[in-house]
Amino acid sequence: MEILVVEGKIAAMGKIVEHPANARVLDLGGHTVMPGFIDTHVHVTLRPQFEDMVFNLSPAFKALLGVEALGILLNNGFTTVRDVADMDMHGYTTMDLARAVEHGIISGPRLIPAGHLISTRGGHGDGTPLLAADNQPWQNSLADGVDEIRKVVRQEASRGAQWIKFGGTGGFSSPADDPAQVPYSQEEMSVLVGTARDLGLAASPHAYGDEGIRRALVAGARAIEHGNMASSDTLRQMEQKGVYIVPTQLAVVRQARLIDDDAFWKDAGKPAYVRAKYRKYSKAILDSAKNLATSNVKIAFGTDLGTYSFAQNGAGEFKEMVVNGIAPIRALRAATSVAGEMLNRGDLGVLAVGKAADIVAMPGDPLRDITVTEKVDFVMKGGVIHKGNPGAPKP
Ligand SMILES: [Zn+2]
Repeated sequence: MEILVVEGKIAAMGKIVEHPANARVLDLGGHTVMPGFIDTHVHVTLRPQFEDMVFNLSPAFKALLGVEALGILLNNGFTTVRDVADMDMHGYTTMDLARAVEHGIISGPRLIPAGHLISTRGGHGDGTPLLAADNQPWQNSLADGVDEIRKVVRQEASRGAQWIKFGGTGGFSSPADDPAQVPYSQEEMSVLVGTARDLGLAASPHAYGDEGIRRALVAGARAIEHGNMASSDTLRQMEQKGVYIVPTQLAVVRQARLIDDDAFWKDAGKPAYVRAKYRKYSKAILDSAKNLATSNVKIAFGTDLGTYSFAQNGAGEFKEMVVNGIAPIRALRAATSVAGEMLNRGDLGVLAVGKAADIVAMPGDPLRDITVTEKVDFVMKGGVIHKGNPGAPKP
């Protein structure tokens, strides 16, 4: 196949495509060519080694972390990412990073910022339990009760959030709650999702336990982030409603799978309470992963990078999905066409005339060996080559 790229878009595709005489010809023979990968769940301003001191870092330092993360992501073939929790508790660093990419000030994937994770006080997005009792900083993303919730959602939207993310259940990494807890009432969740909808924004909860996921479904969430303890009945509801799941299996299912592997947990460098919570819920997580693999729920690719090191290639999520029973083609679609559809970005995630020229290539066939997705050696975003210089120009 030949693909003609003009001004950042795919202008023609076919066995033989007519091209202008001065076109640069690249030969990607021996490679699988795919739409640029989309990671719909990253935290570019977070790093595991700073997780417990996130309040002590300046917005400038968080921006530097973001610049580094975006460079790594693009190099690995991710041409679009959605950041689902700005760790700048006072400002809006991920919006700044998105603007910097858009204007070509820094190199990185298209960045779709969801702003801060909106959370109840004491919930998954409240950092105060990590601090000494007499240190009570102001945090711009905490909201209890419908009035505060409306205000915070509108504030995030006004600052450039393109998605609204909220803490729909407790988490594994937050010290003061449990993944099965549901901090928001049905009324609060419905107001949160409804306020976002009125502003033209989709919303999704960070949610593990079944009850939190169910409330989010009633509220009209477009997707569930994680969703790793969903019962088969809840997965069926998601299937019927066409709600997406972003199962972040490398971050969650792997930890449940390796719950007895001391070396893995030593390397992970997580506090003891994290492993204790995984031990409590490992069976529920593994059962749910099995049910997801046999379901028809729409799966969108997400890594949760930032909660673990960006030194690890996020494309490892493909292999983890396949290990957990998800068909290779479904895993590849999760990071391309399905992710583009979830993000309401029909111009992304497919190779077709008129779509963005976000194109990656890898040496081998990912349907036979999914790990070749970790060996992307050609990256084009919006018609600009960021990695690889394949073949000599042809006459
Ligand atoms: Zn996350």
